[in-house]
Amino acid sequence: METVFAERMGHVKKSFIREILKVTEDPSVISFAGGLPSPASFPVEAIDRAAQAVLEEDGANALQYSTTEGFLPLREFICARYAKRFGLRVTPEEILITNGSQQGLDLIGKVFLDEGDGVLLEAPGYLGAIQAFSLFSPHFHTVPLRQDGVAVDALQAVLETHAPKLFYAVPNFQNPSGLSYSRANRERAAAVLKQHDTIFIEDDPYGELRFAGEEAPSMRTFLGGQSILLGSFSKIVAPAMRLGWICAKPEIMEKLIVAKQASDLHTNAFAQRVVARYLADNDLDKHIEKIRQMYKMRSDCMADAIARYFPPDVHCTRPQGGMFMWATLPEGMSSIDLFQRASAMRVAFVPGAPFYVDRSDVNTLRLNYTNSDEAAIQEGICRLGQAMTEMLSGVGRVEVLAR
Ligand code: PMP
Repeated sequence: METVFAERMGHVKKSFIREILKVTEDPSVISFAGGLPSPASFPVEAIDRAAQAVLEEDGANALQYSTTEGFLPLREFICARYAKRFGLRVTPEEILITNGSQQGLDLIGKVFLDEGDGVLLEAPGYLGAIQAFSLFSPHFHTVPLRQDGVAVDALQAVLETHAPKLFYAVPNFQNPSGLSYSRANRERAAAVLKQHDTIFIEDDPYGELRFAGEEAPSMRTFLGGQSILLGSFSKIVAPAMRLGWICAKPEIMEKLIVAKQASDLHTNAFAQRVVARYLADNDLDKHIEKIRQMYKMRSDCMADAIARYFPPDVHCTRPQGGMFMWATLPEGMSSIDLFQRASAMRVAFVPGAPFYVDRSDVNTLRLNYTNSDEAAIQEGICRLGQAMTEMLSGVGRVEVLAR
């Protein structure tokens, strides 16, 4: 059977996530493994009203085939928001509505990548990007992340030695690390990138979810058309709508539109109209403020619990927004072993290995704090701290979850 599949399928890393899902299906397991926004953040009633208004007022059009580029009022909204957030001037012609920003990654792969082309990723990097790009059989290079952003010296070295076509990064509250690039780091990274032809893919699904610190400019501010910006309504409205976008200069946009047309003709036009209507009739800033407050409370709660329950030589990032924290265990301690032990104690997380393209076991792990309430966060971090302490002192046997 294996011989009938395209070779490219063999290049996609098998996902450890499936294993994790098996564990988290058990309702008694406290899961910090998922990447889900809080369901309490979804504007259910407002979306209901918007959907009814779209059907009542423009039902037939809303159910018809539509343009590949996407619903114009939605693209205009995105441009206005970039202007407000960053003072960025972007026209609707530079916006393509996609089926989530995840589709943006696939389309970028289709437009730019031939087999063996260089793609630079952050280490650790977003699993969904590793997976999406892997289908084009590129050659991955990596650059480490530091507390204040990308390691600029390493970036310069890779650009000079390998001239990758693309550099994919998540400069705001990165998935998985929760780290962000400081303003100074962005300026330095952009100055280096400008000396090369590498296109910078700035994936920004979390930028609006800042609950501490100052907003930093988009890399597009420094790089202009050398950057492609990806955005998403998943974390600020609702992921099930599957609405994201690509912002790119016209020469690139032309190719992306062809690739999108071949993939799926256009993004769900009804969903686009419903979200556009929701955005027109509601105050998005107010809605986002509620999400920020909720995530700040959960993030603070997790950080406090970590300070109380984790062994002192386990280090965690302290994100200023977004959905994730990243823990580093003492050197030589395996987060996969910890996962086995923790799942026996009914708590789950994602071990760090799948976030690297070249490592199979590491001492790092990702914790999500947005999809558990405060009581669950405290209890889960307490159990996890206990699992770490036992593992560090070699106590107890690893008991495999029975169901
Ligand atoms: N990029 C990053 C960094 C993400 O974390 C996610 C969601 N997990 C996505 C893209 C995909 O988001 P969506 O397709 O829902 O817009």
